[in-house]
Amino acid sequence: PQARDLVEAHIATIPDFPEPGILFRDLTPVFADGPAFHTLSESLTAPFDGEFDVLAGLEARGFLLAAAASALCGKGVLTVRKAGKLPRPVLREEYALEYGTAALEVHEGELPPGTRVLIVDDVLATGGTVAASVRLIERAGWHVAGVSVAVELADLGGRAALAREFGDGLRVYNLLRY
Ligand code: 5GP
Repeated sequence: PQARDLVEAHIATIPDFPEPGILFRDLTPVFADGPAFHTLSESLTAPFDGEFDVLAGLEARGFLLAAAASALCGKGVLTVRKAGKLPRPVLREEYALEYGTAALEVHEGELPPGTRVLIVDDVLATGGTVAASVRLIERAGWHVAGVSVAVELADLGGRAALAREFGDGLRVYNLLRY
């Protein structure tokens, strides 16, 4: 509860960004505050203690969280990148946006087969970004240990979408739920 309150106190809520009708949860004040950022980073990995080998950070805000958490728990980071950024052969997963599609990529062979990967991001909304990441990690021959997000926007149905696609075995943790 204390961790939750500290982090929540540093989340800004912005109406009509990036478009009218969207209520945007802005975590930059969390990143800017030492104790809040530290607490959030610890909170994301604690529920999965002993269950993962590497953190996967989703570009771009997930990179901050995965990097901070990795420094605290001593694990490495897999960067799940937007298309076209990685220099070696990649696996790619496309996913639907409200308008058009986007794609995420990882280097094939970046981790040994069977590596247990904990996916980290700032916000779970419709779940499309996380779902593409899960598919990527599975196609690469690694194992998804779980999904950990700072904020889950419950009305957008991401948790249900992930359960439909991957089953109830995929554990999804949030520190805060709106
Ligand atoms: P989804 O694919 O689950 O619909 O959207 C999640 C992705 O969009 C995440 O990578 C997240 O960073 C971004 N996102 C969606 N809504 C918000 C929001 O309200 N605040 C922030 N910070 N990111 C959001």
